[in-house]
Amino acid sequence: MLIVMHSDATTEQVEDVLKLIRDLGFKPHAMPGATRTAIGVTGNPGPIDPGNFEFMPGVAEAIRVSKPYKLVSRDLKHEDSVIKVGEFNIGGSQPAIIAGPCAVESFEQTMEIAEVVAANGVNFFRGGAFKPRTSPYSFQGLGEEGLKILAEVRNRFGMRIVTEVVDPENVDLVEQYADVLQIGARNMQNFSLLRRIGQTRKPVMLKRGMSATLDELLLAAEYIMSEGNYEVILCERGVRTFADHTRNTLDLSIVPAVQGLSHLPIIVDPSHGTGRRDKVTPLARAAIAVGADGIMVEVHCHPERALSDGPQALLPDMFTKLVEEVRSIHQVIEQVEANKLN
Ligand code: PEP
Ligand code: MN
Repeated sequence: MLIVMHSDATTEQVEDVLKLIRDLGFKPHAMPGATRTAIGVTGNPGPIDPGNFEFMPGVAEAIRVSKPYKLVSRDLKHEDSVIKVGEFNIGGSQPAIIAGPCAVESFEQTMEIAEVVAANGVNFFRGGAFKPRTSPYSFQGLGEEGLKILAEVRNRFGMRIVTEVVDPENVDLVEQYADVLQIGARNMQNFSLLRRIGQTRKPVMLKRGMSATLDELLLAAEYIMSEGNYEVILCERGVRTFADHTRNTLDLSIVPAVQGLSHLPIIVDPSHGTGRRDKVTPLARAAIAVGADGIMVEVHCHPERALSDGPQALLPDMFTKLVEEVRSIHQVIEQVEANKLN
């Protein structure tokens, strides 16, 4: 059920609707928009009678939702969501650039990369302190020590930190250090982790699972939002196909598909999407051209020594060039969009 309030509905009228939803034993999710507030209802085991709400003061419509997801849907919120991360935004008029190593390996390695990333005026630094590795013998990350190094990057350079949380037990810890909690591809359908993350009040970057459909991605976001955390950023990072010239097949067509169905921002990760350094820049260009809200890329000053994902890490000068290109392509796209409106 989706309850749309009149644009001039008062705060009290919205409150009365929220109260009735709670009294019925369900959970209300108020989404204030530019022109009106919409209220999603979850926790109802079956359909709700719209008649309960239709005649309440301030209510414009009560609509049954036929799609499997509600809170991620554009039906609930027409405008694009902009996720605030400290003083910076993901979504909105500027493309977000998130960059850094695959893993935090040491203090020196991380600071060296952070200096390169910050020198390009980038606002978001990434790096894994808890790494979900295919082999139990591979480097698993520095854990809390890695998180402390990331916090020092924030102190020194003012960049906001994006880092992965791999299991529900670590959420409390990672939350103390991170600005954005990353859910990796391997955990996109770890439902207990999604619910736990939904109880935090930190923005979440949810990566698409290796073989997840669009609906499955949106439903994973719905898990997080249904717990009350509405600050979700989606991330396309490639899916597994028969193609073996790249690590994964980057599915850029999901960007406009998501934008048609959902108000959530979507960024693209061409590093995991291709697995090869020389393919990252062309696909980053394409991601911006297709309308993504930003990109996430891996950078390393000595990729031959990297403990994970060295082959896909950009060298500093490649990264600098990529940032310049991404910004110019974004300007062209903005211009094209503006011309469409004129
Ligand atoms: C990562 O971003 O470092 C990562 C492990 O990505 P993914 O979950 O997409 O494989
Ligand atoms: Mn990686």
